[in-house]
Amino acid sequence: MPARARLTDAQVAAVARYHFGLGAAVPELPPGEAFEDAQGVPVAVREGDGLAVAEIPRWRSPATVARRLADLGWTAAAAWVGRPPADPAELPDRVLALLPVAGAPADSAAVSSGAAAWAGVRATGREVELVLVPVTAAHPELPWGELADRYGGTLLGERVDPEPARTGGTVLFFTGLSGAGKSTIAGRVVELLLEAGSAVTLLDGDEVRHHLSAGLGFSQQDRDTNVRRIGWVAAQIAKHGGTAVCAPIAPYAAVRADVRREVEGQAGRGSFVLVHVATPLAECEARDRKGLYAKARRGEIPAFTGISDPYEAPTDAEVTVDTTGKDVEACARLVLEALERAPRP
Ligand code: ADP
Repeated sequence: MPARARLTDAQVAAVARYHFGLGAAVPELPPGEAFEDAQGVPVAVREGDGLAVAEIPRWRSPATVARRLADLGWTAAAAWVGRPPADPAELPDRVLALLPVAGAPADSAAVSSGAAAWAGVRATGREVELVLVPVTAAHPELPWGELADRYGGTLLGERVDPEPARTGGTVLFFTGLSGAGKSTIAGRVVELLLEAGSAVTLLDGDEVRHHLSAGLGFSQQDRDTNVRRIGWVAAQIAKHGGTAVCAPIAPYAAVRADVRREVEGQAGRGSFVLVHVATPLAECEARDRKGLYAKARRGEIPAFTGISDPYEAPTDAEVTVDTTGKDVEACARLVLEALERAPRP
């Protein structure tokens, strides 16, 4: 048995399109002869210039759907692609709803908010057959009319968001040197958000390192893993409409950019607010609240950010706060103002 290469959700969707004839090209896959999905289920093996597709658990095939419509007795079913129209009165009594969600995990906001919108149409008394289709919403691989046709329907209309839906969730992501004031300001911001009635989760840097990231050190690789884990959890929270406040040092720009992409992919554009706590090194060192700078200067802590390890200051922060000579309340207010400026759903 050859080792199986693991495919991303987007690659599995490409295999499904190939298999279902929705864009016929053989997809580009990682090197290897056999492929599995994110859960380890075998999906396909290479066969000549093409692929032999074993099983694609997530997607119902167009033939299966067409059979189901026949069983239901729906002839010439009206198909609607994407989210339902703002006014469900535009829809007939029976609708084949095709939701293009290639690359989006099954529990993503794109899937759950789309499905919820169609549940709203059912509540108006209409019958809805909802089908998730492995087509990319922003760059469809075939015309919507053709897609409807493949699944046994006739295109009535479409409403496709070019980008992930904004869920109402937000990630407030603090970055800055040790002692800059991230935890202190984040703590005050959390209090103010709770008072205002938000559902808030605090993922503080030091605390996360005791739980979620226990065992990780301070090499670049471990720091990156720590920040990616925080970002992943924060994205899950924001996806469901919650607010996550994160306060790691997060010294590397590339990883911060990945976290921004992950969060905005789950919770929509404007859901990631980067706060640079830009207190100068000299001020952080003068505070030396935990005695860490003194130790780092004595060489007792290797790879200490700002002393013997890099800090890449962001150029994409939504707000920059230098705490020097300011009180915590004033800093927290600056952060909340940035939060209010962020695009709302
Ligand atoms: P970090 O989380 O960035 O490592 P901390 O919040 O743990 O930093 O520590 C910041 C220190 O700076 C605290 O001792 C805090 O009292 C002090 N400080 C002074 N002024 C401010 C301010 N305006 N905002 C936040 N912290 C401040």
